[in-house]
Amino acid sequence: MRITPRKHEIQRIVDLLEDPTFDTAEQMAKAIVKEVAEQLQMRDLYALVHTWEDGHKGLNFGPFGSPAEAEAFAKKCSFGGRGKLVPLTSPGVTLAATWGKENWPGYCFAEGCGHPPHMHAIDGASRGKCHLESCPCTKFVKDDPSLKAKKKKPAAKRGAAKAINEL
Ligand SMILES: [Zn+2]
Ligand SMILES: [Zn+2]
Repeated sequence: MRITPRKHEIQRIVDLLEDPTFDTAEQMAKAIVKEVAEQLQMRDLYALVHTWEDGHKGLNFGPFGSPAEAEAFAKKCSFGGRGKLVPLTSPGVTLAATWGKENWPGYCFAEGCGHPPHMHAIDGASRGKCHLESCPCTKFVKDDPSLKAKKKKPAAKRGAAKAINEL
């Protein structure tokens, strides 16, 4: 499956790699594999449904990351018959629309929330507290606060490096 990693996906893997609480490399590897599987479930993917020349059902292949990847696969195999591209709707996104997803773009970044924007009260032009009674969220947080904090650090470093270069 060919995919282009997204910034937030990379960040979640980096967080696991930098997590000092794993006792063994195997535990870390297991967590990474699970995280990647979860990330793939958050994408809309594609299946290739094959029908033989005589109308018999062939095999269904997938998932593919893009229609182009599915087409390239079909060309390489050249089974004959007909191929049909079927978009697969992400089960992860579907679940998250109802149940939310913590630390994922599009969902509230407030600690312990992760619920979708529509579950938050309208507060002027922005979103206020989360409607869910069991949720500690008091205001919708749109952007990942950890990304903001991390962005500042390299900038400061660059500044420091520049200052050294100028000496
Ligand atoms: Zn919430
Ligand atoms: Zn919230």
